[in-house]
Amino acid sequence: MSYAKDGFPVEQASKVGQLRIINDPVLQGIVRSFEATGTSPASALVSPTGQVDLAGECQIRRIVVIDGGEALIPNPIRRERALGFVSAAALLMRMGDYEKLAQNPMADPRDVSKDLDDKLWYKAAAIPLSGVTMPGISVRETIRAVVNSTLSAANTGLIDTVRFLVYREWLPQWPADIPPPSMDCLACGLRFELPYATRALSFACSSCSYVHYLSDYLGVSEIADDFGREMTVSNLRNVLETLILFDLVRKFGMQKDEMRKTLFIKDGPLLLRAQLGRLVEPIRSLISHLRDLGSELHIVGVEKNSAFVSLIDEFRGTLPSPGDYFLPSVRFLVEEVAGGEMPDNYRNRVSYGAKVAARLGPHHVVVLHIPTGDFLLEPKPQDLLGFEHSARVLSKLLSYRYENALVPLVLINSMVSIAQRPSGTILETFAAHLMGVSP
Ligand SMILES: [Zn+2]
Repeated sequence: MSYAKDGFPVEQASKVGQLRIINDPVLQGIVRSFEATGTSPASALVSPTGQVDLAGECQIRRIVVIDGGEALIPNPIRRERALGFVSAAALLMRMGDYEKLAQNPMADPRDVSKDLDDKLWYKAAAIPLSGVTMPGISVRETIRAVVNSTLSAANTGLIDTVRFLVYREWLPQWPADIPPPSMDCLACGLRFELPYATRALSFACSSCSYVHYLSDYLGVSEIADDFGREMTVSNLRNVLETLILFDLVRKFGMQKDEMRKTLFIKDGPLLLRAQLGRLVEPIRSLISHLRDLGSELHIVGVEKNSAFVSLIDEFRGTLPSPGDYFLPSVRFLVEEVAGGEMPDNYRNRVSYGAKVAARLGPHHVVVLHIPTGDFLLEPKPQDLLGFEHSARVLSKLLSYRYENALVPLVLINSMVSIAQRPSGTILETFAAHLMGVSP
């Protein structure tokens, strides 16, 4: 929805007009407060928590940025048949190359991408959504097989990272104080424990012997109805992006010299919803483990669209100087931003980063997610792992192509979309071919 800079969208404004007819003092009070153009009470609550010295020494020399895309392609002739396409990519950008380019006043920052083809790792998958199955098996079974095949050693090799996370392979043995991973059987519905001692990639239900893949544990396809199948496309995209990130952390996490020079950026928040959240506890535990070993982690999720992003955008003036940042408590996010009520026993099972709004330049105020290890209700600046160095390097990578844009994200967004650009032609032809119909 497009907003006039200082007003409501047209549609919303006319609804306010209708509300005004209602002759109720309480409602009138609410409408007056809604229409008030003065600053709302939340503005008093957004204020600098601290300041990063953006000009300070920056140890990060290498940036890995991760993003994905998705598209739904209906069969042009048989509308009941549809395929979902998912892509995910990781791009390596060296600060040395970027700085050389930035020193040349005639250079276009996009030229950085010219030499990047060999620095891009890219994976695509197709998911059948309806009316498309492998011979003799159901859509749901076909989706299971596609997810398992996408993550398998032969394709992305990301199944090794699933195993690393689910069975917490950085620990010498499964810790006694943590319940072993378990899931409901896809056939009989009874709960059973995963074989954490053998760390197997496939295993049978202890009640009915139905054989499961380890990838089933991620719950990408645990959606029963037809409408929900489109969710499996977003789910697979989220899983691929997260696994690519932690595949790299797994491979380089123990090399402290490499890690201290590297920033990982994920386009989007550091969270996994619903069943995908089964990876969140292991991820928090891994991050705590690496921190305790003295590894300097720099992982940042960039949140672009949310109620918090809108709030910060509205009150960006309360963070006046580059380096100013606002680190809200979870209570603030739940009560002031989401408008909910914070229960005493609040639990968060989806998020592995704390939100922080930071002014990175005169025109850039960006909402970042920064890991803290364990989930914290009231994160403190010192809990934000690698935040100072991450903010410093990001402040050197501001892009003016879009509001609040950052060069690595602009680059990978354009690459993922280039890879998807054939969607109008090649992907549809490919989809039609897969579905056995000529377009
Ligand atoms: Zn069973």
